[in-house]
Amino acid sequence: MNLRSLANQHILNQPTYIPGKPTEAVAAEFNIPADEIIKLASNENPWGASPNAIREGKSILQNIHLYPDGSGSELTKTISSKFNLSTEQIILGNGSNEIIELLAHVFLSEGDEVIFGEHAFAVYKLVTLLMGASPVAITMPHLKHDLGAMLEAVTSKTKIIFLPSPNNPTGTANTNEEIHWLVENLPDHVILCFDEAYTEYLNKPPTTLSFIKSNPKIVCLRTFSKIYGLAGLRIGYGYGSKEMISLLQKVRQPFNANAVAQATAIAALKDQDWVNQCRIRNTSGLKQLEEGLTKIGLEYIKSSANFILIQVGDGLEVFNKLQKRGIITRPMSKELGQYLRISVGTEHENEKVIFALNEIFKGKINI
Ligand SMILES: *Cc1c(COP(=O)(O)O)cnc(C)c1O
Repeated sequence: MNLRSLANQHILNQPTYIPGKPTEAVAAEFNIPADEIIKLASNENPWGASPNAIREGKSILQNIHLYPDGSGSELTKTISSKFNLSTEQIILGNGSNEIIELLAHVFLSEGDEVIFGEHAFAVYKLVTLLMGASPVAITMPHLKHDLGAMLEAVTSKTKIIFLPSPNNPTGTANTNEEIHWLVENLPDHVILCFDEAYTEYLNKPPTTLSFIKSNPKIVCLRTFSKIYGLAGLRIGYGYGSKEMISLLQKVRQPFNANAVAQATAIAALKDQDWVNQCRIRNTSGLKQLEEGLTKIGLEYIKSSANFILIQVGDGLEVFNKLQKRGIITRPMSKELGQYLRISVGTEHENEKVIFALNEIFKGKINI
């Protein structure tokens, strides 16, 4: 019997997530020393994790033969006291991506509709399709989420609205007023997943605690992969009502948050000086990139996060030209094919990107 015919038929058309090439592969292909390659493709923190966190993570390796704490109690306690929530209102995930999938497992099945922006983070659509539910993609004027249009698209079949702010890959954020409006007008049968992956980069992030207190159907997601610099460890969390979190807990694997990740994340959370420094450096890095791009004559989407979407004409072509020069960036899908996403790097890395882009666009400026 044909193996494919044994599979759940709706997964046969499921797109496979294709990650960017790792540094080592690019180094080998273009014959460039790996330590000269600049990776600005995945919105990682170019300054790395807090040194305290790294020290803590290393020390855990001594006991790595032991299973992790399956309830993640220390990390959960640290998060709960940061937000002044009960520990039953928090769930840990193998990256916040896992929690997006847990939401799908709990709430979605065939016939359900899921609303998100047409250029929103790609994983919402993947988990929707995975469960055989129907994605409803909403137009994003100026590449920003149109919350009014999102609410207008709600039907009796709508189960979840996903809202990332700032959004990846556009870098656009909704105002706090817009987000409060959405929360206040959310229909009673709809779940709102507010994805806060880049919230630490905002000067005035929305205060989401009032959302989850007023509505048990709202869940907020955070990650240690971005400003905390722990992308390689795979750790994130969600917070919401006790009812919401207890449903999500049912569908996760027993040891989904590994031991090194738990210990490192606790130390990372406690080092808010590091987070604040990274936020300040990111703001200067964004400014440096914006000024360089303006000099070259390249337009970009104003970003509230740690990456910037640049209008380059043929995104794939410029991606390839940069890659040959040892700079890895992120080309976009065909809908955003004229753009290229570049993460904010260190001052030196940003300088090199601007230099390379200037070369590619025929040396319009003298650097
Ligand atoms: C990076 C990112 C996440 C989190 O990724 P994890 O590494 O799985 O925690 C979630 N949402 C958005 C919009 C992101 O860009």
